[in-house]
Amino acid sequence: MITGKNYIGNNQSAKGSKTYKTFNPLLNIENETVFTEATSDEINEAIALASEAFKTYRTISGKKKAAFLNAIADEILALDDALIQTYCSETGLPEGRAKGERGRTIGQLRMFADLVTEGSWVEATIDTAQPERQPMPKSDIRKLLVPLGPVVVFGASNFPLAYSTAGGDTAAAFAAGCPVIVKSHPMHAGTGELVASAIVKAAQKTGMPNGVFSNLNSSGIEVGSQLVKHKGVKAVGFTGSIKGGRALYDLAAQREEPIPVFAEMGSINPVVMLPKALKNRNESLAKTYASSITLGTGQFCTNPGLLLGIKSEDLSEVIQNLSDEILKIEPSVMLHPNIIGAYENNKKKATSQPELNVVASYDAEVKTNYARQTITTVEGKTFLENPTLHQEVFGPYSIVVQCENAIQLEQIISKLEGQLTGTLIAESDEATQYPKVISALQNRVGRIIYNGVPTGVEVCPSMNHGGPYPSSTDSRFTAVGVHSIKRWVRPFSYQDWPNELLPNELKNENPLGISRLVNNKQTTDKI
Ligand code: NAP
Repeated sequence: MITGKNYIGNNQSAKGSKTYKTFNPLLNIENETVFTEATSDEINEAIALASEAFKTYRTISGKKKAAFLNAIADEILALDDALIQTYCSETGLPEGRAKGERGRTIGQLRMFADLVTEGSWVEATIDTAQPERQPMPKSDIRKLLVPLGPVVVFGASNFPLAYSTAGGDTAAAFAAGCPVIVKSHPMHAGTGELVASAIVKAAQKTGMPNGVFSNLNSSGIEVGSQLVKHKGVKAVGFTGSIKGGRALYDLAAQREEPIPVFAEMGSINPVVMLPKALKNRNESLAKTYASSITLGTGQFCTNPGLLLGIKSEDLSEVIQNLSDEILKIEPSVMLHPNIIGAYENNKKKATSQPELNVVASYDAEVKTNYARQTITTVEGKTFLENPTLHQEVFGPYSIVVQCENAIQLEQIISKLEGQLTGTLIAESDEATQYPKVISALQNRVGRIIYNGVPTGVEVCPSMNHGGPYPSSTDSRFTAVGVHSIKRWVRPFSYQDWPNELLPNELKNENPLGISRLVNNKQTTDKI
């Protein structure tokens, strides 16, 4: 029997009695390795080590953190085929996707390494003293961003690499100076364990303190709940369902010392199709959206689950073409029987709502764990009155809403729950004719797309991946790109502190050569 292990700092451990296996949805069989859920003692030990590690890790230089982050990237690459094969066997996703996601993960780690090597991300701000100021002298005040403390990261089911063990949340927390405890996602515990072994190797090779990282296995809510409630934990990163994210957010708020939970959750990503564009791009729109809705079997947080247009013959034609196109696409496998179970249940709930028409439903035989794509349509009035129709159906499902007019279109958008993205499909002279619609859309989403698809999230500093609740718990922060580091830090000021005792970022000499705001002027100069 192959046994999976927790990583508690540098030690491997599996003391518990509750075990589970991962599942290969393509072959419809369990994988061999047996994982043991972390015990309370193991959780406490991981947090104690992380708290101890924080004392030194919070102060190490950007260059040393960069060496650690780059070493993680190297060690993940060194896992080579073993990682790719495990990933595929635990998700049903093809090798190409596994390699692409590994590339994205490596890219994120190296991007944060570059950020902390350069160093200006700490937003150093200096106001020098004015001892002669009347009526009161002014103190010397200097501010920078400092890490929060141990962070718990929940692995995401739909991104086993890029948003799990060494994914965006972990890379950002390490870059900020925070130790990380990962609550491994049970659907890909083997992939998680391999990546954990890479992080531990990298930590040892680059001299990081023991406990800077731990990886805990679990297949139930107890381990995650205990972690979030533990007083040694100072922040939480989560990607998953609204139910899960909200439960963790509430738990964190009820603590004696409440802590932030940055949860990226459900989104149906409205796509607004304006009349002229509907007329001129009927066929291409149908093809593009059939493929976006089914991309990755619809298992992306940016999946277009809601298409909105004003009732017309052109809209009816787009609905018909979209239905025809989507039925030409071969169904694909979902990540896990639980995910397809949730898809079928949520789809059933949506399609059983009154006055909803199913216009396309793949009804030929499919293999076990494969999802049947579905398109539905409804009148604007019905959609407005029935919030059940607004709920995410995670999978290859989309609803087309036929609005009476532009006023109803704007009304529907204004009343939508918060979303990660909104997309506008318009001809070049058309957008300016619908300012209220566009303004309403901007108010409900975190990113707006012009004549494209919401699927595909570029990792770059200008990307915002987050949005008004419930797409995320805090719309002020992104979960993708280097600015996601800001979730794991707090501002900290020094007043009249001696130059030699200040951190390098704030010293008069500016030894790191970073960009700082000195007496209201952005500069790399010394003082
Ligand atoms: P999930 O149920 O939200 O679980 C994510 C992680 O959070 C898991 O590790 C889970 O632990 C833990 N968790 C959930 N509820 C918890 C609670 N009350 N207390 C403590 N820990 C808790 O998401 P999932 O497993 O990835 O998939 C389930 C459904 O979520 C999908 O079918 C889909 O509808 C939705 N989802 C949405 C997105 C999106 O981006 N919009 C992404 C992924 C999933 P255990 O699994 O160990 O119980």
